[in-house]
Amino acid sequence: MKKIILSLLAFFLLLTISDAQNQPESYCGYHGKSEWLKKYQQNPDAYPKRKSGVITYLPMAVHVLGRDDGTGYFPPRQILDALCTLNADLEDAEIQFYLEDDFNYIDNSEWFEHDFRGGSTMMRDNRIDGFVNSFIVGDPAGNCGYYSPGRDALAISKSCSGINDHTWAHEVGHLLSLPHPFVGWEGTNVVATETAPNTVNGNEVEKLDRSNCRNAADGFCDTYPDYISNRWSCNNDGESRELIDPNGVPFRADGSLIMSYSNDACANRFSSDQTDAMHANIQDERQDLLKNPNILADVDLENGVVPITPAIGEAVTTGQTLISWEPVKNATHYYVEISVFPNMAVLLERKIVSTTEFLTDALTFERPHFWRVRPFNYFDFCTSNSDIFTFDVSSASSTKTIKEIESFVVAPVPAERGSDLLIQLATDKAFSINASLISLTGQVLKTEAKDLNAGQHNFKFGLPDVASGVYILSLQNDKGERLIKRVVVN
Ligand SMILES: [Zn+2]
Repeated sequence: MKKIILSLLAFFLLLTISDAQNQPESYCGYHGKSEWLKKYQQNPDAYPKRKSGVITYLPMAVHVLGRDDGTGYFPPRQILDALCTLNADLEDAEIQFYLEDDFNYIDNSEWFEHDFRGGSTMMRDNRIDGFVNSFIVGDPAGNCGYYSPGRDALAISKSCSGINDHTWAHEVGHLLSLPHPFVGWEGTNVVATETAPNTVNGNEVEKLDRSNCRNAADGFCDTYPDYISNRWSCNNDGESRELIDPNGVPFRADGSLIMSYSNDACANRFSSDQTDAMHANIQDERQDLLKNPNILADVDLENGVVPITPAIGEAVTTGQTLISWEPVKNATHYYVEISVFPNMAVLLERKIVSTTEFLTDALTFERPHFWRVRPFNYFDFCTSNSDIFTFDVSSASSTKTIKEIESFVVAPVPAERGSDLLIQLATDKAFSINASLISLTGQVLKTEAKDLNAGQHNFKFGLPDVASGVYILSLQNDKGERLIKRVVVN
């Protein structure tokens, strides 16, 4: 009962903190030691032994959460970088993740920034059996990340999934049975200048002399004492501030362990005993993850990416344009980005394709455009972008516009969130149109059908609740002809 009250308290504390600010307050929401690990550590020899030199490949399902209006997603480029870092973190442990399918995009504001209950529903409703399930969200219950043993899935924050962050590997460690090296100290502040007690929160405190390393803390004898349960920075030797064990012996905790709370600049490894336990856990408890996949060789980027169309510098007309490039050896997928800025700062389009071409109709600006692709395959995410290619866009051809419309104005500029846009247009014939608000990534956010008589028209188009930014208001007739205006929402 006490435990339940304590975790409820922690739960509400986390809620309050995450409401107050968006930065994760807590590194990881996982506490304790699994029953499986307790049993394993009583007799590791009874479990399947790890075969050194043999890489274990595990299938990963990546669920990417956004808000109800389709905003907030962690960009694909950064997901690829994070997957690259995850596999680098697990390379020495000889565990590697691969994909079997595209990222699973989910629009749900309540899951995008969730409490533990919302996260539990999210995992229950979207988890796929036979995969390691990872949910990349805006706020995982106030943490950088957590592993849910009940749902057997993990949630990580976008803000803790940078190319140099190790949260994903840390949570995968939990999923594969590893506790924190400071297990028992969670929620308790260690007093650095005092000799540590023999027990903390009912758990034996680990001593430096290894006399109780099997029973205390994480039960691994090759992870040394660590009592620090909040995020800490290491010194130049990768160690913590000085602590004192129950025998009065001073020591410093090892910041290189990914399962510790040392910050991302310090953490880089799993210990040998931790690695053995992860492999035993896979072989014993997670055989559904072992599928003998056809492993793909690394993408060969030696020759770079060679563009085919548009030719570099070529002028194309607004409307649909085919962007294509030569195949890259061993690449099965390409992440395409199109921008009007040479530094690719704001993207008109971003999409993963499994061919070597991409048909875009996002070229609405009469100015130079820039594009690049990042080749990858479902086993190799550690690839780089191609060079940035450019072509010009002009409105030389207006065949795609709606000829019946003589004038078209959208006001106000900029528009306020939640207000109405005023659309004014004049036509010389009666016809029907669909008015749509479209994001720069091509997502249709709202569509309204209108039947128009010949003459002057003023009508209101209610803005849906979208984030501030640039959108496209498109009028389309039943022949697929379009007129487009930019809309800026404040
Ligand atoms: Zn953790």
